[in-house]
Amino acid sequence: MTNSNAKNDTKWPKSAKKAISLSYDDALNSQLDNAIPALEHYGFKASFYLELQSPTISARLDEWRKTAASGHELGNHSIFHNCSASKPNRSWVEKHRDLDKRSIDSVVAEIKVANDFLFAIDGKKQRTFTPPCFDTLVAGESYIPHINDLFVAIKGISNGASPAFSDVISGNVKTADELIEKIENFPENMDVINVLFHGVGGDHLSISVEEHNKFLQYLDNHRADYWVDSYINIMTLVNNN
Ligand SMILES: [Zn+2]
Repeated sequence: MTNSNAKNDTKWPKSAKKAISLSYDDALNSQLDNAIPALEHYGFKASFYLELQSPTISARLDEWRKTAASGHELGNHSIFHNCSASKPNRSWVEKHRDLDKRSIDSVVAEIKVANDFLFAIDGKKQRTFTPPCFDTLVAGESYIPHINDLFVAIKGISNGASPAFSDVISGNVKTADELIEKIENFPENMDVINVLFHGVGGDHLSISVEEHNKFLQYLDNHRADYWVDSYINIMTLVNNN
């Protein structure tokens, strides 16, 4: 995967100034119900980072398959969504999903199985990864160098494994105006913008359907400025540059 600290000089399709990757994490019902129809309406392709223990995987497998078949990326977000319970406000992290209690070998094995699981869903051998909670340390050592070669790219890591020309807009952004403001003020030298969503009109950390639509409408109105595509497509362009 790309490990460049140099400024990216990828030429984006249609001479757009920046590329935007829309991510939808954790395999949530509201993404299938609300996000995908909205993306389809505008013809945007996104990346869905599936937490493979999500009940939606078996309950709505055909829909996830259809999501991949229609050009969206099913990204790896591990099976159990391991996060560090030792960080502040992490009382929700269950014991069996606590990154602090794992070994690097078991985390890497889980992520490999997640790739096989995703292959069984969409038949694809290549994809990207988003680390759950963006936590990367297992007993003080990052697991990222151990999985670099498994992916076209890894999203949003600040430990040097992520390209210096990209950054992430995430967290609790609730309105299109806030997202638009962040995008319009994005650092000049960073030309890959990652916008992370969770729930859309439901589930956790959600943005309303109306605000999500309003944001997609903005992107639709600014196609000359922004190239919107799945993260794997964006990073394949970067890697082949
Ligand atoms: Zn997640």
